[in-house]
Amino acid sequence: MEEVQFAWMRDGHCRHYPPAAFFPSDGVGVDQARKICAECPVREECLEYALANRIDHGVWGGCSERQRRRIAKARRQKAAATATATAVSV
Ligand code: SF4
Repeated sequence: MEEVQFAWMRDGHCRHYPPAAFFPSDGVGVDQARKICAECPVREECLEYALANRIDHGVWGGCSERQRRRIAKARRQKAAATATATAVSV
């Protein structure tokens, strides 16, 4: 089960780079990591993994920590709005 769950990691472009490249300390490093991710075939899986596991460090799925926080917040707000709309219509 675990092997299948993480199988996408084998195809990540980051395998060819040092891990530190994806945990940059400045904006330039973030941009460099995002460029690598841009062409990665498992970008979506990677982003969803980081969001699901609330990983708050590094560049995952082509998104910085800040971008992932924004995505997570937007999803929470959308889910709350949907729940409210459903409750009102029942
Ligand atoms: S999207 Fe980026 S961090 Fe994720 S697997 Fe691909 S290269 Fe690695």
